[in-house]
Amino acid sequence: MGFKTLKTNRFCKNINDVFDYINYWDKRKNDLNFEIDGIVIKVNNLGYQKDLGYTSKFPRWAIAYKFETERAETKLIDVEYQVGRTGVVTPVAVLEPVLINGTKVKRASLHNKDQIEKLNLHQNEYVFVEKGGEIIPKIVGINKEKRISDAKPIMFNEICPCPIQSNLVKIAGEAQHYCVNHKKCPPQILGRFKHFISRKAMNIDGFGIETIERLIKINELKNFSDIYALSKQKLISIDRMAEKSAQNLLTAIKNSISQPFHKVLFSLGIRHVGETVALNLVNNFKTIENLMNADFDQIISVNEIGDKIAESLIEYFDDVENKEEILKLKYLGLCFKIRNENKNKPLNNLKFVISGTFQEISREDLKSMILSNGGSVSSSVTKNIILIVGENAGPKKISKADSLGIEKLTYDRFITKFKL
Ligand SMILES: [Zn+2]
Repeated sequence: MGFKTLKTNRFCKNINDVFDYINYWDKRKNDLNFEIDGIVIKVNNLGYQKDLGYTSKFPRWAIAYKFETERAETKLIDVEYQVGRTGVVTPVAVLEPVLINGTKVKRASLHNKDQIEKLNLHQNEYVFVEKGGEIIPKIVGINKEKRISDAKPIMFNEICPCPIQSNLVKIAGEAQHYCVNHKKCPPQILGRFKHFISRKAMNIDGFGIETIERLIKINELKNFSDIYALSKQKLISIDRMAEKSAQNLLTAIKNSISQPFHKVLFSLGIRHVGETVALNLVNNFKTIENLMNADFDQIISVNEIGDKIAESLIEYFDDVENKEEILKLKYLGLCFKIRNENKNKPLNNLKFVISGTFQEISREDLKSMILSNGGSVSSSVTKNIILIVGENAGPKKISKADSLGIEKLTYDRFITKFKL
């Protein structure tokens, strides 16, 4: 059908063929012009795939084989601290460059305070680094024999590396430390703007990081709404911004106003509100006012939305400045409600509860299917929902649905009924 497929794919007749293939690529993986950490083996017959079906999380007809990870020894030069847009502070090891899997590694995540203590990390230590499944390499151990006798242990610095130097706070139940000075901490402000303009958020092309940094420094960017007040003169007055680039940037800023509600909500950078969560919230609450006025119980009644997300949303909307900023953005024309285009979607205004597992589709995919067709998914059976019943569906849900006289559908009937 014209899709590009990998020329390296092979059909294997039996498990010995599979291992021959794995061993072949284990030796030659560095010859590929992209990085791999393993191989996926799939049953290549749609009928068998259907018979094998899915567990609640995984297909039973595909499995990943992970190569053993390569490990290298190198010297620790320093520990730096990175501040994320939500204030999370991550210690990062600066290393003497070392080759792993054909790439030069200079930095490795140390994750958090506990990890530094667990490793019992000392200054100028020789460490073992692995580049496993994750993109960021990690320190997995220490060569204690090479430790210098008077080397000082490294202590986690509980002060933000930003110019304001706030004390870091550890939130109960989380491993990370946070700088809670969200409004004034420069790396957090920069992080929030970077997130706001990113492709998956407001998709504003042409904003270099340096430009944003400068604008923040001269106080032209404090809130997201300031982006929409930037003028050509202001942009040109900033070093190296040519008139053409300034014009392109202004056009990109103007175009971003047409981004749909779920992208706008995601762009705000509320902690724990990622892309999927934003879409889920938007489909359930329809407008920003409904979401802002929702209490804790109403928020957690949405499927897949837990306590952490609800607390984070409530904290965000409790802040007067955040509320004012949303009003400003709304006034500027950013979209804070589900648009009419959703009116034509087959599941619009319908709420579903999924119970049990399905041969034909994973629960995850079924959920996405409902969301992308304008419906919403809830976890508790109430009067105005439709129950989709799979294998091993919860007997309590079924009896409650029966007592409320609610419609129950199998996957097949669901698909047929809504012509999906
Ligand atoms: Zn800070």
